[in-house]
Amino acid sequence: MAENWTEEELEAAVRAYIDMRDRGDRGERVVKSAYYRDLHERFGRSVKSYEYRMQNISYVYALLGRRWIDGLKPAKNVGTNVIGTIERAIAKVEGQSGEPFAQFEHEVEALRKSIPKQAPTGNANPAKIQSTGTQFARDPRVVAWVLNEADGKCECCTKVAPFTRIDGSPYLEVHHLKRLADGGTDRVSNAIALCPNCHRELHFGSQRTGLLSAVFARITRLVEE
Ligand SMILES: [Zn+2]
Ligand SMILES: [Zn+2]
Repeated sequence: MAENWTEEELEAAVRAYIDMRDRGDRGERVVKSAYYRDLHERFGRSVKSYEYRMQNISYVYALLGRRWIDGLKPAKNVGTNVIGTIERAIAKVEGQSGEPFAQFEHEVEALRKSIPKQAPTGNANPAKIQSTGTQFARDPRVVAWVLNEADGKCECCTKVAPFTRIDGSPYLEVHHLKRLADGGTDRVSNAIALCPNCHRELHFGSQRTGLLSAVFARITRLVEE
């Protein structure tokens, strides 16, 4: 059995993960162990190691500020290369692409464990990276409607926007509760206006599930997707 996971094997794990997620979203019954057994039969590793890889995939989704499968708690004990490969596999399987964001975040975290006394020299002329990102076309009418509805206050913490734009309008960001990347709709029933703090917290915060429930309970136009 190969020690290192090949790109093919990691991609198969990501495909299994996304399939479990999507079936779960459609309310179908998902037997996780059947997926692990299938991977075991194809690639020969133990069922346990596939389960752990799934938790690594949850970790990559967490780094990306996205939702992971309940019951597959993010596990961060994994090499940066593997993170990068998982991230690329996610982009490929979902038909999206962007900067290698999760890999970068993971690398920063790993480096923080052994910071040298001397500050890094950095780069006076950082290299340019060509990116071929795929984005969703958002409806500006949805954004406009939600911003008007919020009327200058964050729909999560209910506080007044922390600052105004140069034109004097309150600065809020419109966020999709179910990410478009996760198959969410671009409708006002799936969008809220947030202050930048709450926006980041709903993506990356440890308390985001509780915050979300409170938001759904308070704002009647929202429909959980
Ligand atoms: Zn807020
Ligand atoms: Zn967002």
